[in-house]
Amino acid sequence: MLMKADPNPLAAPATDEGMPMSVKIRERLLAARKRFHANDNIADFIEPGELEGLLDEVEVKMQAVLDSMVIDTASDHNTADTARRVAKMYLNEVFRGRYAKVPTITEFPNAEHLNELMIVGPITVRSACSHHFCPVIGKVWIGVMPNEHTNVIGLSKYARLAEWVMGRPQIQEEAVVQLADLIMEKTQPDGLAIVMEATHYCMAWRGVKDMESKMINSVMRGVFLKDAALRREFLALIPKRNMNGN
Ligand SMILES: [Zn+2]
Repeated sequence: MLMKADPNPLAAPATDEGMPMSVKIRERLLAARKRFHANDNIADFIEPGELEGLLDEVEVKMQAVLDSMVIDTASDHNTADTARRVAKMYLNEVFRGRYAKVPTITEFPNAEHLNELMIVGPITVRSACSHHFCPVIGKVWIGVMPNEHTNVIGLSKYARLAEWVMGRPQIQEEAVVQLADLIMEKTQPDGLAIVMEATHYCMAWRGVKDMESKMINSVMRGVFLKDAALRREFLALIPKRNMNGN
């Protein structure tokens, strides 16, 4: 006789329709043919209140990871609530940029007709690598070349946009491109330059265990691509930068 297995006590909490929250959200993404890579934002596919359900689901799965790592979370008071803490940290803090909508930014017309190079930075950015979920912490400098049609946004808004893009499991090269696309879309400048320098803790804590190595990359758009002098001006104005030996 075939015995039916007991329902798995560690199974993800089901939604009203008996479907885990993650499956429900994933099905909407698939139906809309939307990409949901680690560094994509999926906020438009999560309905109000569903993030709580997703958090419960991640907690259950995280507890299963701790169990599989043979950690006695029942008697070890240090890890008793770790599954919940990690779930909250991922969804509400470090990877919030996947689940929260883009910050609302008020754009102003360029009434002063600013047309000089403007540099914002260093902006401290915190992310994690998609490969290991290890922290990536560094700085970003943004150069903007406005024109009379450029929307002006407050300086602190650049930091908020950067926080939103970096708050996902990222790959540094893709993160700067996503940030550049977003700033181009919001402000429509003649040119945009972004430099990011970061320590990847997957190289410091594990792997080659090199505490000093940093990754530097840049993205240039519009006039920064065409005008080498402007590019040099931007790079020279970034303190203590040493791009390409210049
Ligand atoms: Zn890594």
